[in-house]
Amino acid sequence: MKSPDSASIQEAEIAIIGGGIAGASAAYELAAVSSVILLERESHCGYHSTGRSAASFTENYGNAVIRRLAIASRSFLEAPPEGFCDHPLMLPRGMLTIARQDQLGRLEEELEKARQFVPSIHRVSPEEALARVPVLRADYVAGAIVEPGCREIDVNELHQGFLRTARKRGGRIVTNAGVDAIERHKDRWILQTSQGLFAAPILVNAAGAWADRIAALAKIAPIGLVPKRRTAFHVAAPDGVSIAGWPLVNDVGEEFYFKPDAGRIFVSPADATPSEPMDAYPDDFDVAVGVDRLQRATTIDVRRIEHQWAGLRSFVSDASPVVGFDAKAEGFFWLAGQGGYGIKTSPALARACRDLIRTGRLPDELLRQGIEPGDLAPGRIGATSAPEEKAS
Ligand SMILES: Cc1cc2nc3c(=O)[nH]c(=O)nc-3n(C[C@H](O)[C@H](O)[C@H](O)COP(=O)(O)OP(=O)(O)OC[C@H]3O[C@@H](n4cnc5c(N)ncnc54)[C@H](O)[C@@H]3O)c2cc1C
Repeated sequence: MKSPDSASIQEAEIAIIGGGIAGASAAYELAAVSSVILLERESHCGYHSTGRSAASFTENYGNAVIRRLAIASRSFLEAPPEGFCDHPLMLPRGMLTIARQDQLGRLEEELEKARQFVPSIHRVSPEEALARVPVLRADYVAGAIVEPGCREIDVNELHQGFLRTARKRGGRIVTNAGVDAIERHKDRWILQTSQGLFAAPILVNAAGAWADRIAALAKIAPIGLVPKRRTAFHVAAPDGVSIAGWPLVNDVGEEFYFKPDAGRIFVSPADATPSEPMDAYPDDFDVAVGVDRLQRATTIDVRRIEHQWAGLRSFVSDASPVVGFDAKAEGFFWLAGQGGYGIKTSPALARACRDLIRTGRLPDELLRQGIEPGDLAPGRIGATSAPEEKAS
């Protein structure tokens, strides 16, 4: 790193690395109470995972911590503060989880677990499932459950709302500013980027799949983050079929899911292939697997893939997010490991980030949901332990 000359360093109380939903939501909350600079390597903030998601809000997916964080995020997403956005952040969707004959035991377990968190989740008959999504094959669906409260999130509106409001609150968002060196000098972190040097006593690591790389730059032990590639693609809706009111259809074995998406059908084979942190791209094999699973379950005849992409979902060993100060490095705050749930949990995680930085405590609303400080704390993770994904 160039020797830090105080005249050329841009200072703030808090520097955030990463402008995806995690960094943007943290900037939104922190800029209300501190001076904040957010540094993003790309020319626009949603280029990686945040711009590639399935945009779903469900309280019936992920481990217990994730479910509680989603429940705690719901009120913000349903009724954001005045002036936060121009359009609703949540739109009706519903989720239909389907099972084949050989998956009925798993469906029963899912229903039991789901009802502990969301009592409105209920069983429907295969006939009712087919009435909701007429392309489902009658000889495929042996059982189904419905989550009426599942929603579609307008991710762009949410992400832009966080960034816009953070700026209004005095936060600075600097794009094309990849952080390539990090050093602790006395009581502050100095960050070297292509846009010059930045400094802050507190550094929030919201670098998504690159969070362990950021730790390495700062000479801090990793949390054992494993980015996992997930593929998605669009196919045309069947001729003459109205798809707009379909729910998100999810296979209980997590082999695929599909839903309407702006007049087309969004499909994912629900793959989770470990990857290096990178600009992820789809593998033809995963797309073919998705087409095969879709065609086995439905009468949709896939003739052409209209658009395909992949993104990274990054997990630590217990598949819960990592939010809190590193025990061994002063001022180094983790906001990482959001896995496949970082959009829907962003309001609650950003508030957790704000309160842990300001007061050292989780917000009461999260404690009331049953989230305990140790559920998110970086110290719970045995560094570099082998990741196993629980119910995700
Ligand atoms: C196919 C798919 C479907 C999904 N579906 C859902 C869903 O339905 N609901 C849901 O809630 N979640 C879903 N997710 C998960 C969600 O997208 C992620 O959890 C979330 O986007 C993670 O946000 P992030 O800000 O941590 O990461 P990112 O959006 O990847 O942002 C991290 C940022 O850090 C920047 N960065 C990295 N290194 C540096 C550096 N050295 N200097 C400066 N900047 C740096 C990167 O450029 C990047 O912009 C899905 C993900 C995928 C891939």
